[in-house]
Amino acid sequence: MRAVRDDLGPAAHLMVDANSAYTLNDAELLQGLDAFGLLMIEQPLGRDDLVRHAALQRLLKTPLCLDESITDVERAEDMITLQSGRIINIKPGRVGGFTQSIAIHDLCLRHGIPVWCGGMLESGIGRAHNVALASLPNFALPGDLSPSARYWERDIVTPEWTMDREGMVRVPRDTPGMGVQVDIDRLENLTVRREVLE
Ligand SMILES: [Mg+2]
Repeated sequence: MRAVRDDLGPAAHLMVDANSAYTLNDAELLQGLDAFGLLMIEQPLGRDDLVRHAALQRLLKTPLCLDESITDVERAEDMITLQSGRIINIKPGRVGGFTQSIAIHDLCLRHGIPVWCGGMLESGIGRAHNVALASLPNFALPGDLSPSARYWERDIVTPEWTMDREGMVRVPRDTPGMGVQVDIDRLENLTVRREVLE
């Protein structure tokens, strides 16, 4: 972090994601990250460590963001009650879809907890859902809404997702449904196995 901060300068927005790599025994090490002015430290401890995250948050100036811990709106309530973190990363696939995602968003809005939309290398179809979700008002932090070309030679939707020079993805509000069309030819071209549900 020191090398990255030195290279990018004090104004760059930086955050780190630990993917549960630490335990409370590492609290002193994690306190050292306060010096780098991070937006957040994401999920330093284990998925079930809501109480330990609360203990860690009390020791840190940097906000903790929970990702893997938040599997539904009840876990988000627990985080708020226990003060285990100050930010939530909402991934629809992790929390069980849009109903839970919106419920977590609304809960966090009421409690002054900003949220952002994480990604897991979605195709353009998953990206469509994340873009729509991230257009809600309490998605106050930049999301993992990268353009199709960042990961895919050719996406499975048309038009492909793009990002403008300011790093913004346009929400296709004037197009019904997902806002993009599934590129059936591309999908056929990539299909390795087919299963029909009657
Ligand atoms: Mg994460």
